[in-house]
Amino acid sequence: TPAAASGDEGLFSGAVLFIYLLCPLNILSLLFVTAPYGKHSRAGWGPIISPAIAWFLMESPTLWLPLLLLPAGRHSSNPIALFILCLFFVHYIHRTLIYPLRLRRLRRPAGSIASGFPLSVAAIAFVFNFLNAYVQTRSVSHYSDYGGRQWRAGVSTAARVAIGLSIFIWGMAVNIRSDLALVKLKAEGGRGYKIPRGGWFEAVSCPNYMGEVAEWLGWAVVAWSPAALGFFFFTASNLVPRARSHHKWYVDKFGEDYPTSRKAILPFVF
Ligand code: NDP
Repeated sequence: TPAAASGDEGLFSGAVLFIYLLCPLNILSLLFVTAPYGKHSRAGWGPIISPAIAWFLMESPTLWLPLLLLPAGRHSSNPIALFILCLFFVHYIHRTLIYPLRLRRLRRPAGSIASGFPLSVAAIAFVFNFLNAYVQTRSVSHYSDYGGRQWRAGVSTAARVAIGLSIFIWGMAVNIRSDLALVKLKAEGGRGYKIPRGGWFEAVSCPNYMGEVAEWLGWAVVAWSPAALGFFFFTASNLVPRARSHHKWYVDKFGEDYPTSRKAILPFVF
């Protein structure tokens, strides 16, 4: 009915707006309180679960919710919509299924950095992923206008999609390679964290975060929607402050041994 349709539209617009509003709140709170997992783990955040289980559970809405929502979209069989959603899935199949399997294989000898993951942090991430999966799926499969100017067949559309896709693929490659290098370092480093070396680690402390931010920038360039742009801003608002905290942590821990030319997340700049 028209009333139900306008209710759905109101819910969707409100959720997109909420993602934008979360960005400044996120930056502000992360400047004062670093999310308490990994290097920044500390007591007082409630029960702890294994990082592999945490990543699997908290990222899982990005796989099952789109599958549930897609059939209800007016573009559910539009090839452009399916292509954009496929990119989202490629990222989240890795993050939800493959990455936790890699973490699970880590051996944890006595005295190792077998840090756990607070259930409270995983629960917050679950809620965000649920919201974001709803927003991105509905945007791509229902509310985007593939008959509009930004999708008109022609050189400018092809160029935009090619540029966005290249940034997305580059970001994903850097993200996965850097995460792999870190997990390998963790597996080797029985007695604690080490200074990561090689590749993009020579330029920044957190190339995995740099790659992730680039991925969602590229995806937003391809999808060209307020929802996708909001997710890019949200990812940056989350990972830039955390990269700053990681960078400071490395400098504090390793002092003069830590390469001074290394920035936090953006080579030569920040
Ligand atoms: P980290 O870089 O903090 O850690 C990744 C893994 O490497 C962890 O297992 C960590 O162990 C280990 N590790 C990190 N540094 C070292 C070191 N110097 N020596 C040995 N081992 C190390 O990444 P996150 O856990 O924060 O994030 C994982 C992935 O999730 C990333 O790809 C990130 O981009 C993505 N992500 C995306 C977000 C978004 O908003 N889209 C939000 C958060 C993460 P330990 O856990 O013990 O520190």
